This record gives sequence, structure tokens and C-alpha cells, in this order.
Amino acid sequence: MIPDLPADIDQIKGFLAADEAQALFEQARRASAMGPVLEIGSYCGKSTIYLGLACRTHNSTVFALDHHRGSEEHQQGEFFHDPDLYDAGEGVMDTFREFRRNVGRAGLDEWVVPVVAGSEAAARHWQTPLAMVFIDGGHSLDAALTDYRCWMPHLMRGGVLAIHDLFDDPHKGGQAPYAVYRMALASGLFKRLEQVNSLGLLLRL
Ligand code: MG
Repeated sequence: MIPDLPADIDQIKGFLAADEAQALFEQARRASAMGPVLEIGSYCGKSTIYLGLACRTHNSTVFALDHHRGSEEHQQGEFFHDPDLYDAGEGVMDTFREFRRNVGRAGLDEWVVPVVAGSEAAARHWQTPLAMVFIDGGHSLDAALTDYRCWMPHLMRGGVLAIHDLFDDPHKGGQAPYAVYRMALASGLFKRLEQVNSLGLLLRL
């Protein structure tokens, strides 16, 4: 049971199963005692709310990184496109309005710091050590590798690397997150903690 979880959390747009959300919350609650958490790919804020509630227990912070223009699969004509999140005036996806509304309604503005930017731009001058990095951004190999390369140097020892959408069967989903997960394990810098559904959790040694 997660305290103060919004009653309508299941109505919030997003792609996070209940068991994954619970695991994410528990890892973030432990990690946030050591430092801030970074989420890559916030979309409409569903997972951000779990991370925010976890960070609140230690008065820590979740940096919620997203350009809010949608990933490849959210664009017009793609499988996961949601017309409600399309700004027809500007001709672009815009998930930031929905994100702000959801985080605000959850009462988490004090613990959630949105970073509206791409991964590389946000990382360029980053200096703050992170206690947890949750990679849930673009699913192209290029995007997933960029997220890993940009942020791994900032993950502190004893911190947690979480990667969403791990599918060993290519018919179930794209292989980029799984490739990054295996790369992290092969680096020798991480130890496997657990895998919950499609959420992989690694400990930075
Ligand atoms: Mg995901």
C-alpha cells in the first residue's frame, strides 16, 4: 500500500503496470535517502507520481526529464499516438500540460522538478550525483543508448538503475531497453537486483 496515492492513478495516461509501480516506489524510497532521483521519459506523470511520493518520504527530489514532444511511437500515425495530447495549433505532441496537471493534483509540486529538455542537452552541464536513474525514454537504440551514456556517469555507487520495457521476446516489444540492460550488466558496474514484469532493477556497485 502506497500512502497518498491518488485515487484516480489508474486513469492517468501511461504505460506502467501495478507491480512495476510498486517496485519502482520501493526502490526509489530507499534510494532517495541517499540523493535525488532522475526519471527519463515522464510522459503524463504516472511513474513520476510514484517516484515523487517515494522522494517525499525523505524530502528528496525527482528530476522529471522529458522534452514532452512524445517518443517515436507517440507521433501522429504511430501505434501509441493519443490525439488528446496533440497540439494541433503548433502541430506537435505536448504532454507537458497533462504532466503538470497530474503532478499538481497529486500534491507533489514540491518534490517533482520538471526538466523540459532532451537527454543530451540536460546532461551537458549536469553535476549532481543521482541515487537512482529510471530510463523510460525513447525506445530507439539511439535514444536508449544516449540516455545510458549521458546519465550513467552521474549515478552514485549504491544507487539504482531502473530500465523499463525489457522484453526478451522481440514480438512483445522493442529490443533497445533490453540491449541497454544487458550492456549495463556486461560492464561489471552493476549487480542484478530483480526484474518485475518488464522493469529491470540494477544496483550500481
Ligand atoms: Mg515505458
